[in-house]
Amino acid sequence: MRSVSVLGATGSIGESAFDLLVRAGGPKTYRTVALTGAANVARLAEMARALQAEIAVTALPEKLDDLRAALAGSGIEAAAGPAAIAEAAARPADWTLSAIIGAAGLPPGLEVLRRGGILALANKESLVAAGGLVMAEAARSKARILPVDSEHSALFQALGGESLENVDSVTITASGGAFRDWPLERLARATVAEASCHPNWSMGQRITIDSASMFNKALEVIEAHEFFGIDEGRIKVLVHPQSIIHAMVSHRDGGSIAHLGAPDMRHAIGYALNWPRRAPLPVPQLDLAAIGNLTFATPDETRWPALRLAREVIRAGGAAGAVLNAAKEQALDDFIAGRIRFTDMAGAVERALDACAAESGFGDSPGDLDTVLAWDARGRHLAACTAGAA
Ligand code: NDP
Ligand code: MG
Repeated sequence: MRSVSVLGATGSIGESAFDLLVRAGGPKTYRTVALTGAANVARLAEMARALQAEIAVTALPEKLDDLRAALAGSGIEAAAGPAAIAEAAARPADWTLSAIIGAAGLPPGLEVLRRGGILALANKESLVAAGGLVMAEAARSKARILPVDSEHSALFQALGGESLENVDSVTITASGGAFRDWPLERLARATVAEASCHPNWSMGQRITIDSASMFNKALEVIEAHEFFGIDEGRIKVLVHPQSIIHAMVSHRDGGSIAHLGAPDMRHAIGYALNWPRRAPLPVPQLDLAAIGNLTFATPDETRWPALRLAREVIRAGGAAGAVLNAAKEQALDDFIAGRIRFTDMAGAVERALDACAAESGFGDSPGDLDTVLAWDARGRHLAACTAGAA
């Protein structure tokens, strides 16, 4: 029987994975090793009971008593804190989904890579902050990383194992998020509630806001560069409001292979779960005649400066990705808390990157977790300090 772990089980991606595991027969089909969450321990315990997990871990030590109470009589172990999440991730499992939000997903993801097996990677921040380290760890332990971000899963599928030698460029699409059609001057007044509604995808709040600011796509450009090893100039972004084509590989011979599908993350998660085979999934089939039109546009970098920053970060190299990711997480915290406006986020990130470049540059690509975390702390600090600056 295959063993699985889900890190970030209580989130949007985690819920979709849970749905797939339950539909596939739950404990009759999969042996669940570890499930992790943070605030939502009631749901974590419910999932752990349904899948008969070995251990359930909350990131929050103050929630441990609640988790223990919710698991009483089940025989399932309970634990709490970031170290306990890393320990649970290190327990052997054939397949592990990394679906914690933010840079917090990096340490447990590295534990999975150290012990080997398949890491189904939704946590794009791991590759943005520490792409070199993550890919080197996978190469060393022969762990297999399968992309779960829909665009990267689409590229992986469209490439079909072909070498990049014959590839001219890859394209990832962007819906344009909640504010695609808003006049520029209205963006500064966008509220957190408005930024938290995605037109096509149902996702966690933070990535939904990142979609509206295009920071999500910025992270994805860096993720594509790190995962596929493609230089920045060959990674294109196309605004495609219907979110039906997720990505496209364009070959040097003039042919392109695109990946299409309904905007439902269970496709990419299920593809990674069943890889290298395919299995039926509860994802609606496309009805292109009903959809009628697929439209495309070049993204406007005045509206979305995040895309320019991503390209600058790739060209800068070293720890620039770690700084961008951390500064972005800080700016997003500040926007959600009402300390800065929607349109201030990109400025805060850019000033953090500029300050870092001026003070020290971005050094070498970080070779260990502590170095990544030090750059991460610096990125957050610089973004917090410069958030109010003009
Ligand atoms: P959610 O915010 O919905 O869920 C995040 C998960 O992480 C929850 O289980 C949450 O626990 C847990 N968590 C929160 N903070 C911490 C922490 N400090 N330490 C450990 N665990 C924590 O996020 P999403 O599911 O939307 O996204 C997860 C990842 O997948 C992100 O990296 C995102 O970029 C990526 N992704 C998401 C997509 C989507 O459709 N949602 C699409 C492509 C990529 P709790 O809820 O119990 O507090
Ligand atoms: Mg995506």
